[in-house]
Amino acid sequence: MAKTCSNQWDLVCGMLLENSEAEYTDEFEGKTYGFCSQWCKDSFHANPKRFIEMPGSHKGTPTLKGLPEEH
Ligand SMILES: [Zn+2]
Repeated sequence: MAKTCSNQWDLVCGMLLENSEAEYTDEFEGKTYGFCSQWCKDSFHANPKRFIEMPGSHKGTPTLKGLPEEH
């Protein structure tokens, strides 16, 4: 399967960011995360753990409740 080092997912909205296309990035615990927009970056930055899931458990996102729905 694909490794996660070439492509990134926007953890906030779930959008796939192709390599080097992430204009908005933020670091958390030594990892760099890419985002599609300033809004997504800010949302992640405010509470990174809300968006980080364990690998292989990408079913459902119960931690996303309470987010504003606008984009
Ligand atoms: Zn996004």
